[in-house]
Amino acid sequence: MPNSDLDIVLIGGRLAIDFANFPSLPASGQSNSLTWEALTRFLQATHIVSAERAERLLDLTDSDPRSAYDLLNRAERLRDSLRSILTALAEKERVVGEWVVPINKVLQVTEGHDELVETGRVWRMEYVAREEGLDWLLAAIARSAAELITEGDAEVRFCANPACSLFFLDNSRTHRRRWCSMALCGNRHKVAAFARRHSLKRRAAGAGA
Ligand SMILES: [Zn+2]
Repeated sequence: MPNSDLDIVLIGGRLAIDFANFPSLPASGQSNSLTWEALTRFLQATHIVSAERAERLLDLTDSDPRSAYDLLNRAERLRDSLRSILTALAEKERVVGEWVVPINKVLQVTEGHDELVETGRVWRMEYVAREEGLDWLLAAIARSAAELITEGDAEVRFCANPACSLFFLDNSRTHRRRWCSMALCGNRHKVAAFARRHSLKRRAAGAGA
C-alpha cells in the first residue's frame, strides 16, 4: 500500500478549490511548492487516476523526467492562478483576464468527452480525454475552475482562522460557514475561546478576592 505523509485536505467542495489549497497545512500559511509526488498523490486522492496509474506516474521522473517536469510546471502555474482567482471571488472582485490563461491552456490541449459512469448505485459524469499526453491529468481541475468562474454566484470563502490559508465553497443553507472544517480550525477556535473565557473568569475572580 502506498504510504505517504502528505496531508491532502479535501474540504474545498470543488476540485479546483482543493487543488488551490494543496499542498497547504492550515497552520503553516505558506504556499509550499508542488513536487511530482505531491501532484501524483493529489490526482490519486481525488480519483483522477487509479492507484496503479499513480504508481506508474511516480516512475516518470526516472523514465521521462522532461514530461514530468513540464506537467509539474503547468500544474504549478494553474494552482497559482487559481489562488488569485479564488481570492478575487472570495473578495467579490473581478477575475483578471491573465489569471485564466493557464486554465485555457489546459482546456485547449485536452479534447475529450463526458461519459456517464456508475459507482455503487450513483451515476456521475466522468471526463474521458482523447489526449495521449499528460495534460489530460489537469483537465478535470481546469474544467472545475472554469465552472466556478462562469457560475458567477459561487460563495468562495477564506477560512476565518487567520493562520489558515484554505479556501472553501460555502454550500451551507445559511451561507455562514466560517471554518474550512470544524476538525481543523473550528474546534481549535472553540477551545481557544473557552480557554480565554476561563482565564478571564479566573483573573476576575482573583481580582475580586
Ligand atoms: Zn481553516
